[in-house]
Amino acid sequence: MKAVLIAPRKYIQGRGVLREIGTYLKLLGHRPLLLWDECVRGLVGQTVLESVRTAGLEPVDVLFQGESTKEEANRVAQLAREQGADIAVGIGGGKTLDTAKAAAVYAGLKMVTVPTIASNDSPTSAASVWYDAQGNCIGWDCWPFNPDIVLVDSQVIANAPVRAFVAGMGDALATWLEAEAAYKTRAVNLAGGVPTLAAMTLARLCFDTLLQYGLEARRAVELHVVTPAVEKIIEANVLLSGLGFESGGLATAHMIANALPSFPECKRFMHGEKVGFGIISQLCLDDDMTTEAIYRIVDFEIAIGLPVTFADLNLQGIGRERLKQIGDICAAEGSLCRNHPFRVTSEDVVDAMIAADALGQRRKQTLGK
Ligand SMILES: [Zn+2]
Repeated sequence: MKAVLIAPRKYIQGRGVLREIGTYLKLLGHRPLLLWDECVRGLVGQTVLESVRTAGLEPVDVLFQGESTKEEANRVAQLAREQGADIAVGIGGGKTLDTAKAAAVYAGLKMVTVPTIASNDSPTSAASVWYDAQGNCIGWDCWPFNPDIVLVDSQVIANAPVRAFVAGMGDALATWLEAEAAYKTRAVNLAGGVPTLAAMTLARLCFDTLLQYGLEARRAVELHVVTPAVEKIIEANVLLSGLGFESGGLATAHMIANALPSFPECKRFMHGEKVGFGIISQLCLDDDMTTEAIYRIVDFEIAIGLPVTFADLNLQGIGRERLKQIGDICAAEGSLCRNHPFRVTSEDVVDAMIAADALGQRRKQTLGK
């Protein structure tokens, strides 16, 4: 048995660091391919292009076509070859970043990610999640290495919709709860080994940071201001959660979140929001935690605005027969639910989701939400 930890080579976070992007890119090459969509280009394009040109670099400007497909990654890689680019820079949300990472591997370029929202674990990871042209998730690839540089401008993150920031907290809140399950079973992580103590410590720090500063950070981001609490939550959402999930492990919270998009009612929810409900379900599946500890997590999710009931997920009145679809996926061979130190059946997952819904409803009533 071996332990493996993987991570980006350099992580930079702070207000206004986007103005320094040229200086950092210059460490890696001279012709960066910038991949972004029209909206992101409109928001940060001037800052980025100015910084890149001031550093004496010649950028290749490429518009992302909107979906993280293998075809799109191949198109970007081909453009990179034709234009002689030596760095692929993904600027935007998870799909743009994942496509840029894949293009970097395909064309043999350095890899840089610049998240403009803190809603998911893509920026630091060595993986790309794939979708089909209709937007259905069809799998993922793990690359040999993580990004060379991850650059996170805190003001850009604080200017983004608060909902994305909250979804990121949902994804991050699951990190330690799932890594701990995987640690107990010695499950092999995405890095290709069992978790190191370092990964477990980062995952736990992620969890504690969220509970301590999450609500305060949410209030600040509503006003688009950057406070120390916001900086801490950006680090939790992007760095601690990113390293913790990849070099820790996943379990039922993500398995349920990954199965929920098969319901059309749930299409409009962000990944981290679905993980939010997956967490409560996982807590109802495991008997590891005290009632007070479980209430603390549910109450935190309610306070920051994550879904904790079927109604919150647009699934009010859903019956056992439909929930069984998710239960069956969770109980199948190769499921992340195998990472618990006990066997998980389809019925267990259905019951846990029903119990989670009841728990969420009860805590909302108690809190007057
Ligand atoms: Zn996730």
